[in-house]
Amino acid sequence: MTFTLHGIGISGGYAIGRAQLYSHDRLEAPHYVLRPEDIESEVARFDAAIAEARSDCEQLSQNIPEGAPTELAAFLDLHRLILEDSMLAQVPKDLIRSTACNAEWALAQQTEAVLAQFDSIEDAYLRERRQDVKQVADKVLKALLGHPGQVPMKVAEEPTVLVAHDLTPSDMVVFKRSAFAGFITDLGGATSHTAILARSLNISSVLALHNAHSLIQEGDLLIVDGNAGVVIVNPDELILEEYRLRQNQWRLEQQKLKRLKSSPSATLDGIAVELLANIDQPEDVKEAVQENAAGIGLFRSEFLFMNRPDLPSEDEQFEAYRRVVKAMKGKPVVIRTLDIGADKSPDWLHAASVNPALGLRAIRLCLAEPPLFITQIRAILRAGRHGPVRILIPMLASLNELDQALELIASAKAGLERDGLAFNAITPIGGMIEVPAAALAAEWFARKLDFMSIGTNDLIQYTLAIDRTDDTVAHLYDPLHPAVIQLIMHTLKVGQRLDCPVSVCGEMAGDPKLTRLLLGLGLRSFSMHPAHLMAVKQQVMHSHVASLEPMAAKLARAGRPERIQAHLLKING
Ligand code: PEP
Ligand code: MG
Repeated sequence: MTFTLHGIGISGGYAIGRAQLYSHDRLEAPHYVLRPEDIESEVARFDAAIAEARSDCEQLSQNIPEGAPTELAAFLDLHRLILEDSMLAQVPKDLIRSTACNAEWALAQQTEAVLAQFDSIEDAYLRERRQDVKQVADKVLKALLGHPGQVPMKVAEEPTVLVAHDLTPSDMVVFKRSAFAGFITDLGGATSHTAILARSLNISSVLALHNAHSLIQEGDLLIVDGNAGVVIVNPDELILEEYRLRQNQWRLEQQKLKRLKSSPSATLDGIAVELLANIDQPEDVKEAVQENAAGIGLFRSEFLFMNRPDLPSEDEQFEAYRRVVKAMKGKPVVIRTLDIGADKSPDWLHAASVNPALGLRAIRLCLAEPPLFITQIRAILRAGRHGPVRILIPMLASLNELDQALELIASAKAGLERDGLAFNAITPIGGMIEVPAAALAAEWFARKLDFMSIGTNDLIQYTLAIDRTDDTVAHLYDPLHPAVIQLIMHTLKVGQRLDCPVSVCGEMAGDPKLTRLLLGLGLRSFSMHPAHLMAVKQQVMHSHVASLEPMAAKLARAGRPERIQAHLLKING
C-alpha cells in the first residue's frame, strides 16, 4: 500500500531505497537476505533456538538452588510463558517467510515492536514486564548466534534508508561511517544536533515524522524528499519515475554549483562576504578544504568528547586541533569550547538536569568544572602556535560568566608558561550570542570580546521558548519571527558600531533562502556546513547589497508572518 508521511526536510535532495529499521539491539543482529530455498531451514533454526531457550528455563526451574528467592520459580514460569507466546514464537517466523530475512534479524525486529508496545502501557506493573520480554528475546538471540545460519548468498545491494524512532547525536557520529542513501526519524526538530549532523552527512533526510518507525516495515521501498520533508512509502511506478527524474536533476544542479568553488565570494556591488565552514570532527576539515571555505567558523569541539567512556587528554585535544589548523593552511579556525549538556550528553556526564536545555550546559558546565575547561583551553592555545586559532565561548548569558571564563583563560596561559609549553598568548576570544539576554546585552559583551558569533539555533530556541529537539513543537520554530530578526539586527548593529566582527554560525547561515535577507541586515560572515557553501555563494554572487538593505529593513518592521513572507519573496525575487 502506498502512503505518504510529512515531517521536516533536513538535507536537500532525494533518496530512493529500501527501509532498514534501526534499533540498538538490531545492530547486534546480523542481517542478510535468504535464498528462497533456504527459508524453511531458517525457520527450523529459529524453532530450534526457541526450544533451546525453553529447555534452559526448564533445567533452571528443576535445579533451583536452596535459599534462592521464592520469586525465582515464578519468574522462570513467566519466561516460559513468554517463550510460548506467538508474539515471540510465531511472528518472527512469519517475518522470515514474508521478507526472506535471517532469523536473528526477524527476532530483533519483532522484539523491538513488542517492546515499543510495552512503552505505551500505563500500568506500571505491566510496563515492568518489558524487561522480562527483553531478557527472553536476548536468550533466543544468543541461541541463534551460537548456531549461525547459512552464509548469506546475497546481501542486500540496493540503497537503504535508515528508519529510526529517534537518533542521538552520538548515533549520528557512528552513522557517519555507514553508507545509507537517506534517513528518517519520528522525533527531532530542524536544528536539533541530530539534524545538524544529518546535514553534515549530506544525504537526504526527514525528521519529525511522528510514526514512521511503526508504520514502515523492513524492506519497504521509500522515497525520501529532503526538500519538501516528505516520505513516500511503497510508491507506484509512476511516482517512482517522477522522483528518479527529480533525483537526477538535483544531482546535476549540485554538480553545477561545484563550478563556483574558485569564484570569489563577493556581491554584485563588490562587497566581500566571508563564507566559513562548521565542522564537528577533525576529519570534517577535508570537506571544508574541498569546498574552499575561507576558514572554520565553528568547530563543535564537544564531539571529541562523545562516544567514549573517558575524557580526551590535553595532548589528544591539542593533536586534534592542530590537525585542523594545519589542514586549513593559514586560514582561521574558530574552536568553540565544550558545549555539552542538553541533547549532547557524553556517557561520562552524569549531571541530570530537570530541563537540560536550561540547565548546566556549555560554559555553565565548564565554569562549574574548571579543570575540564582549563585543559581544553591549554590545548587550544597550544594549537594556536600552528596557525590562526580563535576561541569561541558558547551560551554566554551574563557578563559574570564571561569574566570568569576570561580569568580561567588567563590562568591557563600562566600554567602553560610555568610548564614551558609554546602557545599563542594573543589568541582572539569570541562569544556566542545565542541566549536572548546576550543579544540584548551585546553592547557590553562586544566591549570585552574580540568577535561575536550568533548561534541562531539556540537563539531561536530560547527566544521562542521552543525546545529545538522536540518534534511536537517543531512547527513553531521560526527563524523569521520578528523577535529573532530584531535580536540578530541589534547584534549586527552593535558589532558594526563597536568594531567587533559578527558572524552567524547557526543553521540560518547555511539556508540559501535567507542569505539575501542576512546580507541586507548587514551580515558579512556566514559559517555553515560545507555542503551548503556553494549554494550560499551562488546567492551572494547574485546579490546587490545596496538594494537589499531597504528591503531587509522593511521585513524587519513587518511584524505579521504573512507580510514577512511577502517581503522575503521580494528579497529573493
Ligand atoms: C547555535 O546554537 O546556533 C549553534 C551554532 O550552536 P549549536 O547548534 O551547536 O548549539
Ligand atoms: Mg548553540
